[in-house]
Amino acid sequence: MTITQNIDQQEVSKFSSLASHWWDTNSELKTLHDINPLRLNYITQHTGKLAGKSVLDVGCGGGILSEGMAAKNANVTGIDMSQEALSVAKLHLYESELNVDYQCITVEELANKNPASFDVVTCMEMLEHVPNPASVVTACHRLVKPGGHLFFSTLNRNAKSYLHAIIGAEYILQMLPKGTHDYQKFICPSELVTWIRNVDGEVKDISGMSYNPLTQNYSLGTDVSVNYLIHSKNE
Ligand code: SAH
Repeated sequence: MTITQNIDQQEVSKFSSLASHWWDTNSELKTLHDINPLRLNYITQHTGKLAGKSVLDVGCGGGILSEGMAAKNANVTGIDMSQEALSVAKLHLYESELNVDYQCITVEELANKNPASFDVVTCMEMLEHVPNPASVVTACHRLVKPGGHLFFSTLNRNAKSYLHAIIGAEYILQMLPKGTHDYQKFICPSELVTWIRNVDGEVKDISGMSYNPLTQNYSLGTDVSVNYLIHSKNE
């Protein structure tokens, strides 16, 4: 692996070490399972039916979102740089009897190989784990067809997100392993919007995803101060 690739090996290793727990809904990856129905709703709300659409899931991990979209009859390709997570994702297809094309390739390399080839590109909870998130956003926009849809989700960077996502989730509630997130790598919506506009993408919506520790439920809304989702289009 060359150092010119946009990969933080330590970050990828963190997810590789969790890979065997990926489909355990009570594990360190519980949060991804809990937010999945909300993300799926958000995507279909903005794209219409996923059936028959070609979808790329960037940083797919063990395939929670990829499978959710495949279950809606989308033709899903999932890419990740953790071989371990991809192995778990592939094995899980035997259980779910769904079809997803999993590949170990960077999004930048895929954009060079197959530009403008997907109707929808999703990149969820991944941008805050790479050295150069703007490069991922650029590659995602190159991969979508003209008029195609893109969905990004990540963590905002401010005192509240530090308290909620690191102190709350990792130390107090212990929903995530300590060290899952690095505050410096959190991304403000304005930064993500700038990267999208730099590649002529059009931002269609920004929504917040909030966690209520009392009800232990997530909901979508206008509060983007911690977790948020962005829908953009290639016009
Ligand atoms: N998107 C999935 C998984 C999120 S966890 C979901 O939301 O359910 C973050 C994932 O990003 C991990 O699987 C990790 O291996 C992957 N990742 C980290 N750096 C990456 C890179 N440079 N290229 C591709 N995937 C990467």
